[in-house]
Amino acid sequence: MSRVLVTSLQYSKRFASFSSYIPLVQQTWRVRSYCSSYKKSNDFEVKVDKAKLKEKLTPTQYHVTQERGTERAFTGEYYDLKSDGHYHCVVCDAILFKSDEKFDSGCGWPSFYEMAEQGSVKMRPDHSHGMERTESVCAKCGAHLGHLFNDGPMPTGQRYCINSASLKFQGKSKGK
Ligand SMILES: [Zn+2]
Repeated sequence: MSRVLVTSLQYSKRFASFSSYIPLVQQTWRVRSYCSSYKKSNDFEVKVDKAKLKEKLTPTQYHVTQERGTERAFTGEYYDLKSDGHYHCVVCDAILFKSDEKFDSGCGWPSFYEMAEQGSVKMRPDHSHGMERTESVCAKCGAHLGHLFNDGPMPTGQRYCINSASLKFQGKSKGK
């Protein structure tokens, strides 16, 4: 909890300005509409076999994606990666984010201002740890990815703060 609060403060210092508060209201509304359209938690196209997943994933990947964990800031594989390519779901391989929409937020987790395609990522309200946040999950399998904040850069003003442990990077040169 304290980690998230500190991150948020650091982020505000770097990016907050008077003009950034105006689109914030619009963006808050946008996040709320995402949440209200969120499906029931078991309603995902890809059903997860937890036992098989435990063998396939590292303990951190499993904890983050299946138990809504959070990796420590500045420890993940991708927070500083600048290569061209796509970020896939580590559980079901769906494309979630593109390197073109990644930006350096300074928060220690991979940050994107948009999802790969409309509907690739789903949002739901998260009231845990005494905070009101918006959780982001893989739309296909429901894997926990991270959270969505309203302090990102334009054109969306949003910041998808995502755990590296939820992602698998596929560089463009390797193709797929
Ligand atoms: Zn997935």
